Amino acid sequence: MDFKGQVALVTGGGRGIGRAIAEGFAKKGVNLAIADINPDAVSEAVAALTAFGVRAIGISLDVSKAESVKKTFDDIRKEFNRIDILINNAGITKDGLLLRMKEEDWDSVVNINLKGVFLCSREAIKDMSKQRYGRIVNISSVAAFMGNAGQANYSASKAGIVGLTKTIAKEYAGRGITANAVAPGFIKTAMTDVLPENVKEEMIKLIPAGRFGIVEDVANAVIFLASPDSDYITGHVIHVNGGMYM
Ligand code: NAP
Repeated sequence: MDFKGQVALVTGGGRGIGRAIAEGFAKKGVNLAIADINPDAVSEAVAALTAFGVRAIGISLDVSKAESVKKTFDDIRKEFNRIDILINNAGITKDGLLLRMKEEDWDSVVNINLKGVFLCSREAIKDMSKQRYGRIVNISSVAAFMGNAGQANYSASKAGIVGLTKTIAKEYAGRGITANAVAPGFIKTAMTDVLPENVKEEMIKLIPAGRFGIVEDVANAVIFLASPDSDYITGHVIHVNGGMYM
């Protein structure tokens, strides 16, 4: 995979899966913009990533706010004057059974997880179209395909990402831009650490591989889809779930 001179933006890159994706890119020499709502996580990630010898900038970003997204891309244009790879990774959960789900919990999950992908992709495609090259990889979830009790907002937002990904793929294939998604199963991060032990044990019974995934399992699939090697693959979803859903 030859990423020479390329620049990637990883949203929610301060920790968890996003941070692992950023580290995978840094090891391959990709220059990075790490954008996250948590400024401390951003500073810490940037310091660690520059140790790999790449240029990395940190940006405070709320993916659900158009002005914040616009500022992020302006910062990237100023620093690198190009954007080759967009990883739409930022995401949250606000779980609850449908009947008890508050409207604000629906709105915040859909705005961050789905509208955020729309806003960042719209901005990135302006530059990618001019370059006639781009890679967009969106992080969906197994919940988009199986549903998950207590996650009406989350599973709807992650299923929406799949439709959005396929539409971007169709609209911009002619400009050399691919759009794909990765749908992780249960991956060991802060997002899943909060689950009660008995829920984790029940989940593991559903996973043929017999374990939760690790962040690198997801990062490896993302980096392939973000590379020039995946040139003829667009509009697809790679499932990274240890066989939980196939
Ligand atoms: P995580 O550890 O919670 O990391 C998510 C990162 O996104 C955090 O740094 C978070 O900041 C940031 N973020 C939250 N809201 C944001 C916003 N509005 N704008 C910009 N950044 C924001 O989660 P993760 O487990 O690595 O998950 C990463 C992605 O994978 C998410 O889209 C998630 O839905 C998806 N996924 C995860 C799993 C899993 O099992 N872990 C499974 C399927 C899909 P804070 O630290 O301030 O919250």
